[in-house]
Amino acid sequence: MIRSWEILDFLEVCDGRLHIDGHDAVELAREHGTPLFVYSESRIRHNIVRLKQVGDAVGCGFKLCYAAKAMSTLGVLRSVRDAGCDLEVNSGGELWKALKAGFRGDQLNFNGLSKEEWEIELAIENGVYAIQVDSLYELSLIEETARRLGKKANVSLRLVPGIESATHSGLQTAMLTSKFGMMPEEAFAAFAKYKDSEHLNLSGIHLHVGSQNPSPAVYTQAFDEMFGALLRIYRETGIRLQHINLGGGFPVNYLRDGSQAGDFPAEQREMFAADFEPAEAMRTAWAAVREKADAENVRDLLEGITLLLEPGRSIIADAAICLTTVRNAKQRPTDDRQLTTDHWLLTDAGFNILLSMETYKWYYHLISAERAGELHETPYKLAGPLCDGGDVYFDIEGEGRLPDHRLLPENVEPGEVLALLNCGAYSLAQASQYNGRFLPPVVLTKADGTAELIRRRDTFEDLIASDL
Ligand code: PLP
Repeated sequence: MIRSWEILDFLEVCDGRLHIDGHDAVELAREHGTPLFVYSESRIRHNIVRLKQVGDAVGCGFKLCYAAKAMSTLGVLRSVRDAGCDLEVNSGGELWKALKAGFRGDQLNFNGLSKEEWEIELAIENGVYAIQVDSLYELSLIEETARRLGKKANVSLRLVPGIESATHSGLQTAMLTSKFGMMPEEAFAAFAKYKDSEHLNLSGIHLHVGSQNPSPAVYTQAFDEMFGALLRIYRETGIRLQHINLGGGFPVNYLRDGSQAGDFPAEQREMFAADFEPAEAMRTAWAAVREKADAENVRDLLEGITLLLEPGRSIIADAAICLTTVRNAKQRPTDDRQLTTDHWLLTDAGFNILLSMETYKWYYHLISAERAGELHETPYKLAGPLCDGGDVYFDIEGEGRLPDHRLLPENVEPGEVLALLNCGAYSLAQASQYNGRFLPPVVLTKADGTAELIRRRDTFEDLIASDL
């Protein structure tokens, strides 16, 4: 029997235990300790191949850049590079890491909202594919910096289109009230002002519609906005843009195992269970703008362009599992009446390594790695190890955004290894040493069948490494 969370040749039950790319998860946990992140190289490749199908679905050039902010441990960046994918970076630090991982400047797309001069310099010196410009002020800073360096910077202006997606409010990025990008009118004025600049190559426009977008329709809307901007820029300035960047945001189905889907409010369920093919969404979006381009008699404008995408979550989220051990257990009253009790399990994976569980009430499906083949029907209250009441796996505010209980086999006791699925994106990348907890190790299960430690666990010394 295949359980609905299983993925053939990647996440499977073997001899009753969870196996990741053929490796026994419990043995990995024993060897490296927990919490432990296990990333799968073959799943990363699979996800990249799936996204590259967008290139076949549209009738123009295509460039895929993995959003490094989702997870940027060097070993993972190298796997992404080896899978033939370029990179989107969001700070000078990520840019530096990308170069360390072996990416060339022209493979990098540099985003960010508060860029400092040294970051702009680093980007220009390394000839990045594009610096995504977030405001008119920033554009003037880039122009000045490029002038000082005697170079020409490739820039792409980030538009804020006023598109709302049905995702979490913290993951919205395209609303006029958000902090991102510039108003379209500002961008048009910038194209007019700098079109003959010796130090700026105005190569594209950029628009990102948020993360974990449940509906493919936002991509049609975004593409339509982009085409309108492209056409206006061409007609007003004569500039034929080299690329358009539609950002990332393709969803991952966090509820593939439907066993607890009924415990979510409808909107949350729709967001967590979102599942569509990026290539199909882009095919539809492309067809709609091509009709417009034909009507305006500018099809060549569209066909000569490169479409850039910068997805993070859809490349890395389902490629990783967080293994965690139950460290403590207790009985607690269910409510103030104290008529019934809940069985609590305290793990070693808290919001210090899975911050979204606290900030966005994110859901990561939980199973027993040791007894993955058994029925998961016994309810438990789950919590992490932090000295913080919000470090729980349910919605402590009682707003019902997450299930109150998690379902595991009977009689789970301290020492049992559990597995949180789909943990690859925005997890370790946002982790902290809060409560003096060590940042966890990372194992990469490689396509050649080995399991390589690509990040060691912090040591005591790491806890004070930067303290003077
Ligand atoms: N590009 C930009 C500008 C972003 O802000 C983000 C994330 O919010 C991404 C790409 C990656 O989005 P996702 O991980 O949802 O694909």
